[in-house]
Amino acid sequence: MRKESRLLKWIYLIVVVTALFLLGFAIGWFAKPTHPNTENSSASRKYLREFLDEMQPNKIREHLRKFTRLPHLAGTEQNLRYAEQIRDEWLEFGLDSVEMVPYDVLLSYPNKSQPNYISIVDQLGNEVFNSSLAEPVPEGYEDTSNIVPPYSAFSAKGQPEGDLVYVNYGRTEDFFQLEREMGINVTEKIVIVRYGKIFRGNKVKNAMLAGAKGIIMFSDPADYWAAGVQPYPAGWNLPGGGAQRGNVLNLNGAGDPLTPGYPAKDYTYRFSLEDGVGLPKIPVHPIGFHDAIHLLKNMGGQIPPNNWKGALNVSYRIGPGFTDDFKSQKVRMNINTDNKVTRIYNVIGRIRGALEPDRYVILGGHRDAWVFGGIDPMSGAAVVHETVRSAGRLLSKGWRPRRTIVFASWDAEEFGLLGSTEWAEDNAKLLQERAVAYINADSAIEGMYTLRVDCTPSLHTLVYDLTKQITSPEEGEEGVSLYESWHKRDNWTNDRDAPRISKLGSGSDFEAYFIRLGIAAGRARYTKNKKTERYSSYPVYHSVYETFEIVEKFYDPTFKRLQAVAQVRGGLIFLLADSQLLPLDADQYADSLRKYAHSITQLAQTHPEEMKVYEVSFDSLFSAVENFTVAARDFHERLQTLNRADPLQVRVMNDQLMYLERAFIDPLGLPGRPFYRHVIFAPSSHNKYAGMSFPGIYDALFDIEHSADPQKAWEEVKRQISIAAFTVNAAAMTLTPPA
Ligand code: GLU
Ligand code: ASP
Ligand code: CA
Ligand code: ZN
Ligand code: ZN
Repeated sequence: MRKESRLLKWIYLIVVVTALFLLGFAIGWFAKPTHPNTENSSASRKYLREFLDEMQPNKIREHLRKFTRLPHLAGTEQNLRYAEQIRDEWLEFGLDSVEMVPYDVLLSYPNKSQPNYISIVDQLGNEVFNSSLAEPVPEGYEDTSNIVPPYSAFSAKGQPEGDLVYVNYGRTEDFFQLEREMGINVTEKIVIVRYGKIFRGNKVKNAMLAGAKGIIMFSDPADYWAAGVQPYPAGWNLPGGGAQRGNVLNLNGAGDPLTPGYPAKDYTYRFSLEDGVGLPKIPVHPIGFHDAIHLLKNMGGQIPPNNWKGALNVSYRIGPGFTDDFKSQKVRMNINTDNKVTRIYNVIGRIRGALEPDRYVILGGHRDAWVFGGIDPMSGAAVVHETVRSAGRLLSKGWRPRRTIVFASWDAEEFGLLGSTEWAEDNAKLLQERAVAYINADSAIEGMYTLRVDCTPSLHTLVYDLTKQITSPEEGEEGVSLYESWHKRDNWTNDRDAPRISKLGSGSDFEAYFIRLGIAAGRARYTKNKKTERYSSYPVYHSVYETFEIVEKFYDPTFKRLQAVAQVRGGLIFLLADSQLLPLDADQYADSLRKYAHSITQLAQTHPEEMKVYEVSFDSLFSAVENFTVAARDFHERLQTLNRADPLQVRVMNDQLMYLERAFIDPLGLPGRPFYRHVIFAPSSHNKYAGMSFPGIYDALFDIEHSADPQKAWEEVKRQISIAAFTVNAAAMTLTPPA
């Protein structure tokens, strides 16, 4: 090549590069990013795209198929086999390390030689009706052994006999109505309630406190039967012979009932069974609606209010006991379930961070299932498996995240979040210093309608940004983003024009990380249309009918919904682990705090007289929220001008973002709930599944009009307001310049 033409080529190249650079400025390639900062290096953005595109519906289908062939209850041989398989495959996918982490925790199983059942007995003591001992096994699974029959894990043993009282959903307000308006006392009675609306453990607690000597929970078609849908296997409704298993503990975040606060290792001191945390003192048992009809159909007593009536062809009379013709018949529960300390196994996999190995981003979900776990939890576990496979592919192409990623397959979630809580206890010191975020990966689907996200306010913006980069899985929405599809189906109308994001409650493994340790956390799954489908959770929840086939035939035939959920969960992990600046938004926290402060104030103002008499004011809380708002705004302003080339400056501000969630932890915990330590969020005291904001104030105000000592009760309200105000101020201080 001649000299002149080489020179021309160089000039040409310089002109083109300069032009592109100027164009880049013009269209904002180098524009100042808005927070949270997902404006990463082009290499990181390219890897994110590859990471998301690598996750394939067919692979998720295969993972789900292979991990749902056999029952794998916590503490059983098969659940250990699956743990070993997951460990081996994660290593093959390319994780840097994978280990099994065992604990010995209290589990609960039916007694194989003395089955649990409920009878109606006549005056001679003859059993004239017995509830079924098992669910009819679905076709194709007839030869499967080790299907545990429906039972309430950790039920007390016993044979209580007595009259039935029907208490609707067994919620606090249902018992209030029963006792205060209907004037019915349940002491020495057996309570029967329908499943739904709240966590079953709260129903059992309410029955115990009311003095009942046993509690029966049934699945009513009003709550577990969608209109126009056939029972499984023809459709996805719960057959009449199906019933919901589940633990009935009231742990309040304790984890293993015998080792609260400390990991359940071989040397760990264990409480006696009598002193175990959260164990019910009365027998509990679940039944399906075929059996429930027999118990309900002859009940006497008051006619129930309309909103206490389910969809069965019975009167739903309250009792106590049966109508005159059947007055001599009683109900007897026969419960022989045993508590047993049993070994469980978490699987923990890691990708070491390239630049900040001491910063952890965690993706965790449970593996143990009541039976096959087709939806709960394996739809989630299959998604984690695909996320690990995709991350492994990136590693093989030379990628390595900035921070360490931890993948967890938890055990014994169904027995009270035990595996995840014991590991949190075991690693508490490391996690409180180093954990950036925790993303939960339980069931990835519970309906066929749209996305559902529950997360801490600082993750809102990241979730919105990310879902704009993912495609809708819905047929006919090719080219539409997941964000748009979700926005159209579930607009957060009274809050703002954006898709709805809810508060975290509990009932899954993020609890210890978020509520006890104060680690920013979130969860995402596909869900149902809450406006038209009135049943609770999904019809076959915790039944033998949660199979691979119910997902493949009904919930997600193309596996594109599970793919979208994998991309959301995986994308969150990727961006939290690989962004130079942590994609956490303190401004959003300020907005949420203001909203929660207003709503708790409104609640208090339903008692205007007492507020005056006892001089109750929320001023300190609002002034703290204002301080937080200013601190957050200034923080994000400084973040814009941060010298990103200075690793120490970057690290200083990232640490402020990481520790923001931690700042809401009160080491003393909430009243009577030492492991619920987050001052802004806790599981509702009346429903573990629901999130409550400013829970300390809320609980102090609850039912205060019936307080025996109003003076004392309002003093407690004032104390809780001051704790909230102090904590919000303290959190604001962590966002101000360090010096
Ligand atoms: N996810 C399980 C359930 O809802 C366990 C929840 C818990 O113990 O918090 O039954
Ligand atoms: N599927 C439940 C939830 O995530 C938890 C569980 O039962 O495992 O809400
Ligand atoms: Ca423990
Ligand atoms: Zn479950
Ligand atoms: Zn689950």
